[in-house]
Order: sequence, then C-alpha cells, then structure tokens
Amino acid sequence: MTHSPVTPYHLDTRLVHEGQTRTPYGETSEALFLTQGFIYENAETAERRFLNEEQGYSYTRYTNPTTTMFEERMAALEGAEAAQATATGMAAVTVAMMGQVQAGDHVVAARALFGSCRWIVEDLFPRFGVGSTLVDGPDLDAWRRAVRPETKAFLLETPSNPSLEIIDIAGVAAIAHQAGATLTVDNVFATPLFQKPLALGADCVVYSATKHIDGQGRCLGGVILGSRDFIETKVQQFLRMTGPSISPFNAWVLLKGLETLSLRVERQTATAGFLADTLHDHPKVRRLTYPGRPDHPQAALIARQMTGGSTMIALDVQNGKAGAFRFMNALKLIRISNNLGDAKSLVTHPATTTHQRFSPELRGEMGITDGLVRLSVGLEHRDDLLADLARALDEV
Ligand SMILES: *Cc1c(COP(=O)(O)O)cnc(C)c1O
Repeated sequence: MTHSPVTPYHLDTRLVHEGQTRTPYGETSEALFLTQGFIYENAETAERRFLNEEQGYSYTRYTNPTTTMFEERMAALEGAEAAQATATGMAAVTVAMMGQVQAGDHVVAARALFGSCRWIVEDLFPRFGVGSTLVDGPDLDAWRRAVRPETKAFLLETPSNPSLEIIDIAGVAAIAHQAGATLTVDNVFATPLFQKPLALGADCVVYSATKHIDGQGRCLGGVILGSRDFIETKVQQFLRMTGPSISPFNAWVLLKGLETLSLRVERQTATAGFLADTLHDHPKVRRLTYPGRPDHPQAALIARQMTGGSTMIALDVQNGKAGAFRFMNALKLIRISNNLGDAKSLVTHPATTTHQRFSPELRGEMGITDGLVRLSVGLEHRDDLLADLARALDEV
C-alpha cells in the first residue's frame, strides 16, 4: 500500500488526491474494497487487532479502506482532524447527537431544522430522558435563555431548510461553550466550500453526503467531522456498536463525487445567483430569498460567515398553494422532488411535503408559507432554466 500526503496543495488538487491509498497493483482510480470482512495471517494477528495493539482492518461495520479514503478526503476539505462516514445524513445527525448525551441531559436546537432532525430533538430525545428546547435560531438571546445546568449540546442548521434563514455560528458557539456545551452544525445547505463551522467555533459538523457531495442523485451517505478526540470518544464506539455504517460502495461513489465537488457547486451557485437576480422582481414572485444577494435580511452576517451563496433559492409565489402548484406543474425541465444538491434542478413545495406534519402556525414560525417553493439549482444551462422558470411563473 502506498499513501501520498498532499497537504501543501490547493483545495481543488486535494479534492482529487487526498486520502488515496494505492494497492500494489498501482491502480489510477481509488480502489473499491467491497468486502464485509478481512482475513488474518494467523491467530496472533487476530488477537492483536482485537486488543487494538496493531493497526489494520477487521470488519466493515468498523472500518474499510475505501471508507477511510472518503473520510480522509472529507477531513482535508473541512479542515477537521477526523471524520466518520455514516450510512445516511440522518445517521450522521443521530449518531453525532446521541453520542453526546445520556438520560438527564438537555439539548437546545434551532427550530428551523430539517424535518427528521427536528423529530430527533423534539420526539426521540424525550423518550430517552433527554430534554430539549427549540429556539428561534437567529435570536442569540433565545439560545442564552434556553440554557439549563444540564445542557450538553446545541444543534443548528444554517442556511436553514427551506427558508434560507441564517444563524450566527460564532455567536451560538460562544454561548454553548460558556454553558459547557458543544455546538453541532448541519452544514448541508452551505456545502463544505462556502462555510467552515469548525473555524467559526463549532465542535462538530455533519453532512448529508446524499446532497452535493454525491451531487448526481445516486447514493445515500453522511459524514461527521470534528476533533480527533470528539470523533473517537463521542462518535466511533456508538457507530461501531449500533451499526449505521456506510456501504463501501457508497463511500466510493461519494469519494469520486468529491473530485468534482468544487466544479459542480461553483457552477450551480453561479447559476443560482443569475436566476435569483433575474427573477427577483418578477411580478408573480412575492418574495425571493437567496443568501448570495445583498438584499438578504441577514446579508451582513452572511458576509462574515459564508464565502459563497448557495445552490438553493426560496421563492414565495403569488396565490399561495394554488399558485405554487400551478407554477411547479408548469415546469418542464425542472422536476418535482424532495431532494436537493443534484445535477438536475429540482423543486419542492415544503408546506405539503417535507414540512406537512407541522401546523400552519409552526410552519409560519419557520418561514414556510403556502406559496413557498424551494428550488435546488442544477448543472443545466442557465438560459434553459431561466426560460423554464419564467414560462412557469406566467402560469401563476
Ligand atoms: C437531506 C438532509 C438531511 C438528511 O440526509 P439523508 O442523507 O437524507 O439522511 C439532514 N439535514 C439536511 C439539512 C438535509 O438537507
């Protein structure tokens, strides 16, 4: 096995090379180790591996060489000491949060969370004796007020899904640390390219790699990043014993996805910025929210903590649900799906799908109106996308 460290190079170079381990065959592309287990030369080796006296692979629920390559490349991209891949983004959130708490502890989270993340905090944790409080994320005083003596962890997502609201990561991290708690940031919407939560003070970053990291709609996956101590003590044992491990095949697809991540995300973001600027004043659009525009209500905060806009646009169209449905049904190129971050542009109506289970009042608190359509901008030519959107808006 040969392993070449590529640390001095630029990010784009490292996204192609970092973490690769070559077998003696000298393959160009990263090898896919589609194996459940590993054999030992002799009984003594097996004993030493189990005693942790010798490095090596034993079982893919624990570690796998292809998965290790994905984790090392992700850690390099994030600027993290360590990474742990998981079967899905939700496995990453669940493991990262459950690994930090026990009965009697308390968690504070921003209420504008991805639906399943909110379910974990609001419904699952209390079943195991972990208290939780949901707060208005941008309001730093609300985080301060929610702290209790037993508060152990904070969780937030910024920009939030689907309303693209921004939370001050450094501000919330300072409150968490003063309370003796940690901060975990779900960084899916910003992507690892445009926001570095660890550098802003967060203790843990989680991704659904299903989104931009794959970026071509094929595999589910997730990743948890943090200090080596955090990953080893809070995450690894919990994951290895409970089993939401990633398939080496999916890790391989995601590893190859990282090679083109910056190309794809930069192009998708440039197109999103063009579409946001062009459609902003369209008469059928009540409100357009895009983190890359200077009229975003939190533009100053965005300038402090993000280095790029996003591939996502939130469009509130005229005539509520009826207007949103007419708009979506009139699209020909852009398709209806609850997914995002894909090469194919996709639209979602959160009020009737991803956020359907919430009452209209709770949706209102999260900025989800009946006319809100979330647009995930893909890799199609920007003029084709603009033509599709403009024609469909005429139907509203
Ligand atoms: C998709 C998503 C998740 C969950 O990821 P899966 O891979 O679908 O499990 C979590 N958080 C955010 C912000 C997401 O967009």
